[in-house]
Amino acid sequence: MFEKILIANRGEIALRIQRACREMGIKTVVVHSVADAEAKYVKLADESVCIGPAASAASYLNIPAIISAAEVTDAQAIHPGYGFLSENADFAERVEQSGFTFIGPRAETIRLMGDKVSAKNAMKKAGVPVVPGMDGALPDDPKEVVRIARQIGYPIIVKAAGGGGGRGMRVVHTEAALKNAVNTTRAEAQSAFGNPSLYMEKYLEKPRHIEIQVMADKHRNAVYLGDRDCSMQRRHQKIIEEAPAPLVSLRERQKIGERCAEACRKIGYEGAGTFEFLYEGGEFFFIEMNTRLQVEHPVTEFITGLDLVQMQIRVAAGEKLTLRQKDVVMKGHSIECRINAEDPYRFTPSPGRITTLHMPGGPGVRVDSHVYSGYVVPPYYDSLLGKIIAYGDTREQAIARLHVALSETVIEGIKTNLPLHRELLRDAAFVRGGTSIHYLEQRLEKLNREPT
Ligand code: ADP
Repeated sequence: MFEKILIANRGEIALRIQRACREMGIKTVVVHSVADAEAKYVKLADESVCIGPAASAASYLNIPAIISAAEVTDAQAIHPGYGFLSENADFAERVEQSGFTFIGPRAETIRLMGDKVSAKNAMKKAGVPVVPGMDGALPDDPKEVVRIARQIGYPIIVKAAGGGGGRGMRVVHTEAALKNAVNTTRAEAQSAFGNPSLYMEKYLEKPRHIEIQVMADKHRNAVYLGDRDCSMQRRHQKIIEEAPAPLVSLRERQKIGERCAEACRKIGYEGAGTFEFLYEGGEFFFIEMNTRLQVEHPVTEFITGLDLVQMQIRVAAGEKLTLRQKDVVMKGHSIECRINAEDPYRFTPSPGRITTLHMPGGPGVRVDSHVYSGYVVPPYYDSLLGKIIAYGDTREQAIARLHVALSETVIEGIKTNLPLHRELLRDAAFVRGGTSIHYLEQRLEKLNREPT
C-alpha cells in the first residue's frame, strides 16, 4: 500500500480524499493555490505545497508544478479527484512517466473515453446500448450529412466529439436548420475543444439521466455498484442525485449493470468509473463514460456501505477486488443536495465570507464540505460548498431526513441554493420520482413567469 498520496484538487473533494487516506493510515500532501492557502483542509494535511496563483490554469491545471510537488514530498501516488486534471490523459501519462501511480484508469482508457465518437463505438462493441445514430464522425459533405440525419430521423442532436461540460451540442428539429447547426457547432468545437470532429444522434425528448457506478481492478475483475438518478439538472449541471433511481426495476438495473461491468472487463478498465445513460421508455442509451470519481459518489456509498475512495486507492495499488458481484448489497435509499454559493433562482455566483455556519447531523445524515464559519469562498473556482446527503430505509424516509437536515442548515454571509433545495424536496413531481432532465428548467421558467 502507498505510504503517501498527493491530492491534486481542492475543496470538498480534497477533504474527502484526505479523510479516506487518513483512515487507511496513508500520509497526505495537499497541493493548493495561493487563494486556498488558508483553508482548514490544507492545514489538516500532513504536508501542503503551494503550486501557483489563484487562476486554475496556473495552479490546479499546472502539470509541471503538481509533478514537482510530488517529487519534493516523495509522494507515491496522485489522486486527481474530479474536474481539473482528473480526465486529462496527458496528465495521467506524465504522472506515470514520472514514476508515480495515477489513481484512475490508464491514460489510454481516458483518451478513448474522452473522445465521444470513440467512446460510443467502444461501448457499442462491448455490448452497451447507445443512443441510435451514426457510428463514426460526421463527414464534410453536406449532402451526406442530410442523408444521415434523415436516416436517424428528426429531432437529432449534433455533438462535438471532444465536447464536455454540456457545451458543444445543438438540437436540430428540421432539415432546414441542419446546415447552420452543423457549421456553428463545428466552429465552436474547433475553438472550444481544438477538435472540429462532430457526430449526430437521435435527440431524446424526455429522458431521465441514470448512471451506473463501476469499480474495476488491474486484474480484469469488475463490479457495478448500482445506479444513480441525476435528472434534476440545470444547464447540464446536476443539483440533486439519488440512489437507487426511482421506478427502475431490480431486473433492469441488474441487466444494465452487468453490461457495464462486462464492458469494463473487455476494455481492461481500471479504477472507479461511471457509465452515463439517458433512460427513456424503459430503455438505457449510453451517452458518455466518466473515468473518475463523481461528485455524487456518497449516495452510492450510503446504499452499498462501501468506501469508493478507499477502493480506488486499493485497486490503484494493484490489489485485487475482494468484492464479488453477489457480495454487493444495495439497501435503502440515499439522496444528495449539492449546496452551491449562488443566488438560488438567478444562479449568479456568490463568493465571499461565510459569517455564520451551522451544518446538520443526526441519523442517516452525512455532510461532505470543506467550509466553516469565517471561510471565504474564493471567486475563482466552481461554487460547490459541499453536499448534504441523507439515507433512509425507504425513499420517503430519505426525503424526510433531508428535509430536517436542510431546515437545520444555516449558511450566512453569502447566498446559497438552500432555498431552492428546500422547495424541490417538497415538489410533488420530485416526491413521486422519475422526473425528466428538463423538469427543473421548466419549473424554474414557470416560477419566473409567475413571480410569487
Ligand atoms: P457533456 O460531456 O458535455 O456533459 P453529454 O454527452 O454527457 O455531454 O451530454 C450532456 C447532456 O446533454 C445530457 O445529460 C443530456 O441532458 C443532453 N443530451 C446529450 N445527448 C442527448 C440526446 N441524444 N438526447 C437528448 N439529450 C441529450
